Amino acid sequence: MKKRIVIIGGGFGGIATMYSLKKLMGHTAEVVLIDYRGNTLNKPRLPDVAIRGENIEHARFLMRDAVKKNGYLLIQETVAKIDPKEKKIYLHEGGIENYDYLVLATGVEKHYKGIEGFTDYGYSVCDDIQAPRLWRKLQSFKGGPIFIGSMPYKSGNRVAAPKLLAPCEGPVGEVMFMLKEFITKKGIADSSPITAFSPAKIFFEDVGDYVRQNVGNIMKEEGIGLITEKTVLKVDAENIYFKDGTSYPCALAIILPEYRPYEFLSESGLTDDAGFIPTDEQMRHLDFPEIFAVGDISALSVPKLGHIATLQGNIAAHTIAKDLGKATAIPKFEPAILCIMERANMNATMIYSDVLFKGKMDTTLNGFAAYFMKWGFDFYYNFNRGKMPPAFTEDLLVKYLEKK
Ligand SMILES: Cc1cc2nc3c(=O)[nH]c(=O)nc-3n(C[C@H](O)[C@H](O)[C@H](O)COP(=O)(O)OP(=O)(O)OC[C@H]3O[C@@H](n4cnc5c(N)ncnc54)[C@H](O)[C@@H]3O)c2cc1C
Repeated sequence: MKKRIVIIGGGFGGIATMYSLKKLMGHTAEVVLIDYRGNTLNKPRLPDVAIRGENIEHARFLMRDAVKKNGYLLIQETVAKIDPKEKKIYLHEGGIENYDYLVLATGVEKHYKGIEGFTDYGYSVCDDIQAPRLWRKLQSFKGGPIFIGSMPYKSGNRVAAPKLLAPCEGPVGEVMFMLKEFITKKGIADSSPITAFSPAKIFFEDVGDYVRQNVGNIMKEEGIGLITEKTVLKVDAENIYFKDGTSYPCALAIILPEYRPYEFLSESGLTDDAGFIPTDEQMRHLDFPEIFAVGDISALSVPKLGHIATLQGNIAAHTIAKDLGKATAIPKFEPAILCIMERANMNATMIYSDVLFKGKMDTTLNGFAAYFMKWGFDFYYNFNRGKMPPAFTEDLLVKYLEKK
């Protein structure tokens, strides 16, 4: 009988796992994707929606198209609980699904409610509700101090992932640069100073000195301020308040909220002390060998990046395929930070850095080429329903950056 592989979550990690399984297993296994959303969200496109008013449909594609393309099954439902001993998945509406292998790719909850005053006075870019909401706010924005930053990340202690306080500051960088363009075009730049804040001691703590200096220089050129070791306590109509007792006049607060793991996973007994899924470097759960985790919910995924989610999805698929008798080599978990921040006038800064993972690459690519790469990736990803560009394109990029 065919083995049943269930993937929970059709975002970057889940969709990458599915494509990889199709390539490795075809229809020799039964593959099922469960997600309560009808579409996959390409989050790196959301700053364009929030700051440039791009149509939200450019940042998502129908999940059923991606699943159908592979000939697999989509169940559009919310998972409420998992019983890892019985290998059962309990759905919110009452159904029960069995699995032989389970891949957890649920991402994380963006915990906006953890910030007092956020509902009325806080803004964000992290999903397809918040990004269009920020764009609507910007239409009536008359100027005033702008603050942008993220809430701290709480990691667990079962796996040896980097200890970072900020889960992902790329979007902070991108949004501040794009906002600068927005307020300049609107003629309110003088009355609207932008300040970035970080919960960590160092802004962009996940990259090396070269990249940090490069980003710092662009911030100086753009006149963007920086405050560090700041965790937001609350926002109101006039101020932003931090946990260290400081507060600043603020007309627009844009916050990446806490990346909080879903409670149903800890209630199912699957998580580490911080609520993330502990795995080895083949993405296999430390306690349940038939369970895998990829993407933001994985304790190994630090910082939280789509690039790392897809890498993990590919590894998980290879590991499962090997378990099921396919002769295949499991790729190594060699993460890197790859992030492209758009700026004004079709410019962008691409960051490629692996020094956090004891690598040697720590570089940036500035200008139109980086902008075009982001546009090219998004077009390819959406047009091909979540299929990643061929691996050789990243290999070529890395070779080029090494020589640069
Ligand atoms: C504004 C922004 C810009 C970014 N830019 C970059 C970038 O330039 N480069 C980069 O590498 N990364 C970037 N990232 C990070 C990247 O988007 C995330 O790391 C990535 O989306 C994580 O993928 P995932 O598969 O783990 O989770 P997600 O993409 O969040 O997908 C999780 C899926 O699981 C589903 N799900 C959750 N719970 C359940 C449940 N109980 N039942 C059923 N389904 C469920 C959800 O509906 C969702 O579809 C950015 C993030 C943001 C917010």
